[in-house]
Amino acid sequence: MPTEVLAVLTAPDRDGPAASAPYRFADVAAPLVAAKDLGVTRGEGVFETLGVNAGRAQAVEAHLARMQRSAAMLELPEPDLSAWRETLFAVVERLPADREASVKLVYTRGAEGGDRPTGWAYGTTAPDHSAARTRGLAVTVLDRGLPHDITGTAPWLLQGAKTLSYAMNMAALREARRRDADDAVFVSSDDRLLEGPTSSLLLRFGDRLVTPSTSQGILPGTTQADAFRFARGEGLTTSYEVLHRSALEQADALWLLSSVRLAAPVRSVDGVERGVDAAFSGLLNAALLARRE
Ligand code: PLP
Repeated sequence: MPTEVLAVLTAPDRDGPAASAPYRFADVAAPLVAAKDLGVTRGEGVFETLGVNAGRAQAVEAHLARMQRSAAMLELPEPDLSAWRETLFAVVERLPADREASVKLVYTRGAEGGDRPTGWAYGTTAPDHSAARTRGLAVTVLDRGLPHDITGTAPWLLQGAKTLSYAMNMAALREARRRDADDAVFVSSDDRLLEGPTSSLLLRFGDRLVTPSTSQGILPGTTQADAFRFARGEGLTTSYEVLHRSALEQADALWLLSSVRLAAPVRSVDGVERGVDAAFSGLLNAALLARRE
């Protein structure tokens, strides 16, 4: 079984010409994108990364809906979600079913001067995230430099869209490593809690689970949504709130949530150790791993 699979969409958008097959498999090592592709030259595109476990992609509809939403924010042609779904399932089918894996969907505006978007789905087996899920992460707090109400005042900054312009998120992760941390939590310039560079933030106060409100220009997390569903089933209450950064110290426990690493408890914030809720982390990760499409 391959550990990497690539499928290129023949018609990734709804306006495209009818195609006999929605995708073709391609050589992962071969060049794929044109030098003029705006996804590469301007970061003009969107993506999604899905987790795969036991041969099943997780939270498929939530990811496809978020891709559609991000594409609309960038005014890309509307993606043909049934073509994306079919391509995704074909990639998952070729991945080893006995390992955790991930599939990245990439949708760009296409070559400059052309009128056809580009899309592909790349699947690969996932690294072992068990240490992050159990021992937890050291995180550092980083200023994102924008006020928490930025989407209302400057929507063209595309905060809250999952665009290909992730260079700043990657720079934030490098800064975290320079500070001997594994990951980061962004705060707004007016000290509200936001999200990680590639994850959502979850806080527990007693029997209440809280995540920062998506009204603050952050990505609505698919893992966070499923974590809330699980928590409500366990009798906890859940809410989206605007939180001051001091909530990081007040919370009983913290996690960073994302589709492939899943729920990683936070074990320290800027060098200050804090309790890890190992019991709930274990239950939550088991529930997240057991998800089906
Ligand atoms: N926030 C940001 C900025 C992200 O990039 C991601 C995922 O990559 C998330 C949150 C978590 O989203 P999800 O749980 O859907 O993977």
